[in-house]
Amino acid sequence: RAKAQGRNQVVRFEPSMHQSAMKRFGLEADLKRAIAAGDQLELFYQPIIELKDGRLHGFEALIRWRHPERGMISPVDFIPLAEDTDMIVEIGRRSIMEAARQIAAWMPAEGDPPQIAVNVSGKQFMAAGLLEDIERTLQKTGIPKGSLKLEVTESLIMDNPERTAEILRKVITMGCKVSIDDFGTGYSSLSHLHRFPFNTLKIDRSFVMRIAESREGLEIVRVISSLAHILERDVVAEGVETEEQAALLAKLGIQYGQGYFWSKPLPATEASVFLAKNRQKFQKS
Ligand code: C2E
Ligand code: MG
Ligand code: MG
Ligand code: MG
Repeated sequence: RAKAQGRNQVVRFEPSMHQSAMKRFGLEADLKRAIAAGDQLELFYQPIIELKDGRLHGFEALIRWRHPERGMISPVDFIPLAEDTDMIVEIGRRSIMEAARQIAAWMPAEGDPPQIAVNVSGKQFMAAGLLEDIERTLQKTGIPKGSLKLEVTESLIMDNPERTAEILRKVITMGCKVSIDDFGTGYSSLSHLHRFPFNTLKIDRSFVMRIAESREGLEIVRVISSLAHILERDVVAEGVETEEQAALLAKLGIQYGQGYFWSKPLPATEASVFLAKNRQKFQKS
């Protein structure tokens, strides 16, 4: 209706549209301030667990916004806004640095630190300077390169397979690791996948949810798992909530799991406690 009224008319939004636009404008200004203030955006860390023995493998970094008035805001509610407004580039750059600093803080006297996987969104990924930022971050913190992992979604990859592959190849050549996130939701073509530079497939939670419910649910995850196996890539199952799911996944030969069954994403201090209880793995025997 707004369109049909012509150029010089005052556009009347539907009340719901108006509301969401207002909400969004408010949030946009707030997010700008949050970036300037520097202390409202914070990474939480969710453990990734080795299924065969329950040992800690690493963490996924998941961003949270501690809004001064609205409380904790989920990335689902501000990452899309950050993408549309280009603020994601700055947010993402800082997240990579923060994760690397956390790895440095978790460096044991001997052996390797736990790996941290950082989510990278489309616009951030395609923006100039990503590789240079990573290089600088690795130099500044001195962490083992393989302890830093980037997570890109399957749909991001399929939007531009050639360009994405080129960048990911450079990330891997640099010594960092790559996961394909939300796998199964993005219509990858298998012909692309097998030539694609990545280390790990993360099976989307929507599939993991169904493995204990039906035979098809289980078989779909089995197929994804054997695909990864053929390609010689690792698998992480996301959104594992029950012991039954964890056991079924282990039986399928899937290496890693992540989900509320072990832990929700934790603030850095709590993640440090979780790590301290699981240190053995990272010490040289
Ligand atoms: P994702 O990367 O697929 O992350 C997994 C999401 O599933 C997280 O939601 C996590 O808290 C949630 N989750 C983990 N285990 C379970 C479970 O057992 N049950 C259920 N119901 N949920 C579980 P979160 O933290 O709200 O993040 C949502 C999405 O926002 C992420 O999906 C990712 O796409 C994006 N995101 C988060 N942090 C960042 C970031 O730093 N940068 C970018 N670009 N995107 C981010
Ligand atoms: Mg992720
Ligand atoms: Mg995911
Ligand atoms: Mg997901």
